[in-house]
Amino acid sequence: MRLLIIGGSDAGITAALRARELDSTTEVTVVVADSFPNYSICGLPFFLSGEVSDWHTLAHRTADEIERKGVHLWLNHTAQSIDPEARSVTVVDQQGRAKSLSYDRLIIATGATSVNSTIPGSGLPGVHQLHSMADTFHMQKHLLDQAPRSAIIVGGGYIGLEMADALTHRGIKEVNLVVRSASVLRSTLSTSVARVVEQELRRCGVKITNGIAVEAIERTGERLTVMGTRGFKASADLVLVAVGVRPATTLARSAGITTGLHGAIRVNREMATNIPDIYAAGDCVETWHHLLRTYTYLPLGTTAHKQGRIAGENAVGGHRQFAGSLGTQVVKVFDLAVARTGLLEDEASATGYEPVGRNLATWDHKVYYPGARKLLLRIIGDQRTGQLLGGQIVGPWQAEVAKRIDTLAVALSYGMTVEALNDLDLSYAPPFSSPWDPVQMAAQGWTRGLAG
Ligand SMILES: Cc1cc2nc3c(=O)[nH]c(=O)nc-3n(C[C@H](O)[C@H](O)[C@H](O)COP(=O)(O)OP(=O)(O)OC[C@H]3O[C@@H](n4cnc5c(N)ncnc54)[C@H](O)[C@@H]3O)c2cc1C
Repeated sequence: MRLLIIGGSDAGITAALRARELDSTTEVTVVVADSFPNYSICGLPFFLSGEVSDWHTLAHRTADEIERKGVHLWLNHTAQSIDPEARSVTVVDQQGRAKSLSYDRLIIATGATSVNSTIPGSGLPGVHQLHSMADTFHMQKHLLDQAPRSAIIVGGGYIGLEMADALTHRGIKEVNLVVRSASVLRSTLSTSVARVVEQELRRCGVKITNGIAVEAIERTGERLTVMGTRGFKASADLVLVAVGVRPATTLARSAGITTGLHGAIRVNREMATNIPDIYAAGDCVETWHHLLRTYTYLPLGTTAHKQGRIAGENAVGGHRQFAGSLGTQVVKVFDLAVARTGLLEDEASATGYEPVGRNLATWDHKVYYPGARKLLLRIIGDQRTGQLLGGQIVGPWQAEVAKRIDTLAVALSYGMTVEALNDLDLSYAPPFSSPWDPVQMAAQGWTRGLAG
């Protein structure tokens, strides 16, 4: 059996390794457009901040390690077309030489690309995007060669925030975050929680301008000027546009593969497309949402790994289903960890739930033991049934915020009520928690609030 995979990042390599793990007789080939298979894209901000000094260490695995697992890598080859009738893919190398590769099963894992081209001036020198190793080297060269003293980041999503932290860490004194919505992390956090993140950004010297849609970028000499609605105008030495991604699906579409939301490939929960023997996974596909019980577009590395593993398993004869995403995320913003899982109130209402959200501020561990840190937790539950719908936690990044959001993610995965969180046998010793963990205290606060 010949399994061909297009794309060699989180989804593609995970699929390849899973297929080989289950069936070592399968001939697995991965075609990768660049020479960086299996790099941790999630680590790019930490290389640019200087916290990770050697970019080579960002590789989850080296090319040699992947090949030693019996996976053939075709680096620097771009898939140009798929012929589902002939079961072949035409690839071209960097010199433009074409070759046809045959397959029995195909997995498309072409990921996503940054959305920036819609802003006039986004191609100017000094204006960056951040999605690939090439983007990273480009920005690193700018930082090294020109030592910019000021930066404007367009976009208040998690990449914009990580980069505000990274550029400040790198020594850029003036970092200006321009955000279209009324608060940062608009699609991740409720406004009251987002305000805490904004305070942290401001405390660390980042200027935030909310409610501005950027309309154009211009260059005058060495300076870049960003212009937006409501007369917004600001200049800096470097601009980063981080306003989201779109699925890279031109190749799939031209082969007759059905796409849906945002142009992402439509797959069933076995990660199969509408064309027999062609699967797809990662940022290029629509993602089944565990709570919404429908498809959405939720590009994340965690999801890409899971979907890739399922596509790899099913491509060699399995029938495993993707359980669904909850949108669980954590991001470090200066000294804070900011985490969320499940639904926000507006998403929950739109799905027919009756959501109520309640905040609780409490200590991460017993205050008498040194180093206790304050956490803000938000629990969202359905007031009719008591079902847990979502959670958000913000606190110092050493305060086990990620562990705690994961407790809520597990509870959501199994359809628990808010009250049932109190039945969980969670760990406790004074340096780590309290006899009731903060997530349980927040659950009790939610239930008390409901009782009036
Ligand atoms: C700066 C940054 C930070 C992030 N941080 C996090 C985080 O902390 N946590 C998290 O969960 N997620 C994070 N993400 C998101 C995560 O990186 C992506 O969800 C993940 O990389 C998606 O993996 P993928 O394999 O689907 O696609 P991609 O990583 O986009 O890779 C696509 C692959 O396909 C190849 N390719 C594309 N077209 C072709 C073609 N025609 N022929 C051959 N090869 C092709 C590319 O070369 C690449 O190998 C971050 C993303 C960025 C940009």
